[in-house]
Amino acid sequence: MFEKIERVPGDAILGLIEAFRKDTNPQKVDLGVGVYRDAQGSTPVMRAVKEAEALLLKNETTKTYIGSHGAPSYGEVVLPLVLGEDSPVLAAGRASVTQSPGGTGALRLAADFVASQLPGKGIWVSDPTWPNHHGIFTAAGIELHKYPYVDADNRLDFNGMLSALKQIPQGDVVVLHACCHNPTGFDLNQQQWQQVLEVVQQRDLLPLVDFAYQGFAEGLDEDAYAVRLLAENLESVLITSSCSKNFGIYNERTGALIVVAKDNEEMENVRSQIAIVARENYSNPPAHGGSIVAEILHSAELEKIWREELTEMRDRINTLRRDFVEALKPYGLDEKYAHIAEQRGMFSYTGLTPEQVDRLRDEFGIYMVRSGRANVAGFSNENLPYIAKAVATVNG
Ligand code: PLP
Repeated sequence: MFEKIERVPGDAILGLIEAFRKDTNPQKVDLGVGVYRDAQGSTPVMRAVKEAEALLLKNETTKTYIGSHGAPSYGEVVLPLVLGEDSPVLAAGRASVTQSPGGTGALRLAADFVASQLPGKGIWVSDPTWPNHHGIFTAAGIELHKYPYVDADNRLDFNGMLSALKQIPQGDVVVLHACCHNPTGFDLNQQQWQQVLEVVQQRDLLPLVDFAYQGFAEGLDEDAYAVRLLAENLESVLITSSCSKNFGIYNERTGALIVVAKDNEEMENVRSQIAIVARENYSNPPAHGGSIVAEILHSAELEKIWREELTEMRDRINTLRRDFVEALKPYGLDEKYAHIAEQRGMFSYTGLTPEQVDRLRDEFGIYMVRSGRANVAGFSNENLPYIAKAVATVNG
């Protein structure tokens, strides 16, 4: 039966993890994996999450199904978190929320919804984008296209992006990273988002806003700028949100698909279809992560702790970005890599070439993917001078 099945190479990141594990260099540094790290290099459970879990353990009375749209107590806190407390979209009853197994699950719901209810529409992703976008949309049977995002020097190419968006066939779906663009770290400013909105309106496009890093760039509300701008000015928007990073609950698989429609009536129609898509994929989402988020955001005390912890993570990343560029100063490389301090989120397109990445790994035990994407959270005050020296060497 399985004789003709071919083995495919594993995920490049998994290979990197394995090579890092085997490396005996005591100074080795892992800049590959996409999770947040603290100063000790670990990805701890947040205090607010631990406290919420203790309460859940004590108070939980049932493990019955929570329904295809997930727990209402989760949905009612996620909507204002994403769209804003005073959102006119919420006041108008135009937004539907469906709890999903992570941001990935939300993306798959969106993809299946587009494939089944809006057949024939193509989907456009930035080049580069999070590699799983390709897999998810293709698996759903949607034709995938790319718009440029970086230029030959690996810097944001906004003009290239905008002119490409103007060419997208009327009515197609365009995937936009709300903040902390993965893998590049380059985000649009408010004026650029305004221009994107205008093109989306002119071409009557359907934006699918991937919002996996709310709170990791500038702040919870600041990072939602694009999401809210589009939701408040367009009749139809898909938003996929994730609690993996900002609550640090990666393995609890907690996210949401938010659909913004023209009015309440249209929203309910779409919502009924999303329930079917969820049911056919996995029936009900896992409950625990959503319960944690609901517990935290329904408690002023826990929410305060969570916000402080999130701020700490964000500040750490942004400080490390600046410190790295500072550490390159003695080598005269601070200007060349100044963009690293301006990028946002965990990831950085460093501009290091595949050959330089190979040398960093082989000669210094510094691991990152060959595109030159580094996870900035892998930097620490201790390893920055070492990394800076290594980068200078491969630039020499
Ligand atoms: N979208 C982007 C751009 C991501 O980087 C990620 C995770 O790395 C996701 C979505 C999915 O996140 P989750 O772990 O919640 O499925």
